[in-house]
Amino acid sequence: MSARPPSETRKRVIILGSTGSIGTSALKVARDIPEWMEVVGLAAARSGAALAAQAVEFGVKHVALTERAALPSLCGALPDGVQVFPGEEGLVELIGAVEADLVLIAIVGTAGLRPALAAIEAGCDLAIASKEVLVMAGEIVMEAARRKGVAVLPVDSEHNAIFQCLEGRAVEEVSRLILTASGGPFRTWSREQIAGASLAQALKHPTWEMGRKITIDSATLFNKGLEMIEARWLFGVPMERVDVIVHPQSIIHSMVEFIDGSVLAQLSHSDMCFPIQYAVTWPQRVRNSLRPLDFAALRQLDFEEARRVDFPAIDLAVEAGTRGGSLPAIYNAANEEAVAAFVEGRLGFSGIWDVVARTMEAHADDGGASLEAILAADGWAREAAGRLIG
Ligand code: NDP
Repeated sequence: MSARPPSETRKRVIILGSTGSIGTSALKVARDIPEWMEVVGLAAARSGAALAAQAVEFGVKHVALTERAALPSLCGALPDGVQVFPGEEGLVELIGAVEADLVLIAIVGTAGLRPALAAIEAGCDLAIASKEVLVMAGEIVMEAARRKGVAVLPVDSEHNAIFQCLEGRAVEEVSRLILTASGGPFRTWSREQIAGASLAQALKHPTWEMGRKITIDSATLFNKGLEMIEARWLFGVPMERVDVIVHPQSIIHSMVEFIDGSVLAQLSHSDMCFPIQYAVTWPQRVRNSLRPLDFAALRQLDFEEARRVDFPAIDLAVEAGTRGGSLPAIYNAANEEAVAAFVEGRLGFSGIWDVVARTMEAHADDGGASLEAILAADGWAREAAGRLIG
């Protein structure tokens, strides 16, 4: 049996994006290991009623909702004594108002960046699911965390796996980080079939149930590209030592190859509760109700090369991560715009790659990697991609 934790190891956690796929998994973890995890703050964009129900269930006294138009659905369903922080600035205010040990950033896109920096400033450890934050501003976030002495704990299953494999190891001992990719729904499709892929087809992920944006990113392999850049910053290794292998079963979540040729891997079922729990209870391991692996039933694990020519998102990521500066922010922002256009039927599936590649090409000047330069590059890329989409 797990030891019952002393009360000071019960982590007080704020969940930003609590109504989404990661957010609801985090609340499952809180239900599963309540003696290790206390939810003290919740935030969403527009799902007011769902947010209110979560606040009631977990007795949370501080919540934020960024879409002001949705406030009535939240406020009407909250009991007395719950403080509401409205608007985008509400996310940062919530972090300032609540005593917490850990802030989980599980918001789609770049909106998580300012709250992540605010959490670090407040001296909270950071659990990061929102890869866009580290892709855009990995250097800034990691440097701020180092200065403040707070931990950045990856929730993305691949990075959480690498984090577990690396523990206690110097980065000089690493020869390669090997990110596994399911290959997405179009892994075996021809180029012509992929070009005509519909939204419904792109949303059918073979192994993971996730939010819409990341599911489309998994179909284009932009998700893997974003993860390669994310890994580069989280673990401080150069891009050329970040590799990808397709592993359709999504049982091995990633691997580390060391300079002596040994490889460590982390395995589990595809359930985000595993990495979320580890980020919450780290550095401890705690018993839970999750299903363990049955190797005899699995029987076989497969691997194959990623189709880099047919899925150019990976090579574009290598270029963005290698050149650095604000190019990763351009890669990310152009992809967000292109995915939104694909979802709305304004762009074909392979147009997503095209828009990102052309936006990156058009980005002549690199204003460096300061926060201002990155935010300016983000805004520029959105406009440039928007013009290309037409
Ligand atoms: P979802 O779309 O399922 O959920 C997004 C959540 O963020 C919702 O709670 C949404 O609120 C909230 N939200 C969206 N925009 C804002 C905003 N501007 N301010 C505050 N809250 C906002 O996304 P996922 O849970 O799938 O993904 C979240 C992040 O985690 C992404 O960056 C993704 O790449 C990453 N990730 C996800 C994985 C997964 O398995 N889903 C795996 C690894 C990483 P509302 O409900 O009100 O819209």
